[in-house]
Amino acid sequence: MTTFYLGERSLKRLDGVHEDLIRVVRHAIKLSSVDFSVLEGCRTVNRQQQLLEAGATTTMKSRHLTGHAVDLGAYLCGQIHWDWPLYWQIADAMKEAADKEAIAIQWGGDWKTFPDGPHFELSWQDYPP
Ligand SMILES: [Zn+2]
Repeated sequence: MTTFYLGERSLKRLDGVHEDLIRVVRHAIKLSSVDFSVLEGCRTVNRQQQLLEAGATTTMKSRHLTGHAVDLGAYLCGQIHWDWPLYWQIADAMKEAADKEAIAIQWGGDWKTFPDGPHFELSWQDYPP
């Protein structure tokens, strides 16, 4: 089995993200059967406003604003792919890593309304804003 590692750009995008979430991401990349990149960590209020206006998000209370969320992208053959089955595999790795690190996370793909496959965040309960 191939072991993947986070590239420089991915590491840079983890700047300002909560250390526990970084720990889960760093652990998950070693377990994942699919390579992934960090697409986004911290987000400014301006950017969140733009995403809201574009319909790409439904909230101004995003966990990205506080460093409690990351978006991961499945990376295959030099580009990001959006097929759900790839995100099930990434979610498996993230959940297993979170379990082993004893850190509570939520996967956006488990949300009933507006499921968000690339999105992972620390639990609101254990990590209030
Ligand atoms: Zn997100």
